[in-house]
Amino acid sequence: MQEVNFVQIISKYVPISSISKLWYFFDNNIVDLKITRDRVTKYGDFRHPNPVNSMPRITVNGGLNQYSFLITLLHEIAHYKVYNDYNKTKKPHGIEWKKAFQQTVVPFINSGVFPQPLEGVFRQHMQNPRASTHSDINLLRCLNLYDKSINNNTTNLEDIPNGEKFAFKGRVFEKGEKRRTRFMCKDMNNNNKYTINALAKVEKI
Ligand SMILES: [Zn+2]
Repeated sequence: MQEVNFVQIISKYVPISSISKLWYFFDNNIVDLKITRDRVTKYGDFRHPNPVNSMPRITVNGGLNQYSFLITLLHEIAHYKVYNDYNKTKKPHGIEWKKAFQQTVVPFINSGVFPQPLEGVFRQHMQNPRASTHSDINLLRCLNLYDKSINNNTTNLEDIPNGEKFAFKGRVFEKGEKRRTRFMCKDMNNNNKYTINALAKVEKI
């Protein structure tokens, strides 16, 4: 991909001040980036090459706000780096990944890409990053402040009464029991169950 094309696409999703560093990474590594529709159970992922896709691939949900998108992208870049250095032998969120994530994030934090108070909260998170960035309640509350489409009908899933229906990412769910930081919810379209973060922004219906 040419730099001009990369900049044109990625600038819709990440803070402008992060783009040149991201381009440097994608220009110097053989990895595919796919921006996807919003998935209920994950924000992004990293996939090894397989018979269908011969390149390693990073995917990120396109509906995330610019800071959530960037943090998710850096999380997945760290998975790529572990894959590149060790191939398949390391645990997905083990010590190698934590180190790779910290090394990936530092230049972005230090160049002022994240506004306060997000920068401070993210720095704290990065001292011992977890498998899911969004399971850190402090960080998630901070990231939610930057969400685009908040209206009067929008609320946190934790504020919906149990057994009530709500809309999330264009689908209707019924709220069920709590499981640590998430709620078990039933997709009314196909009866599949998903665990959704207690702080997910959902629509009252
Ligand atoms: Zn991960």
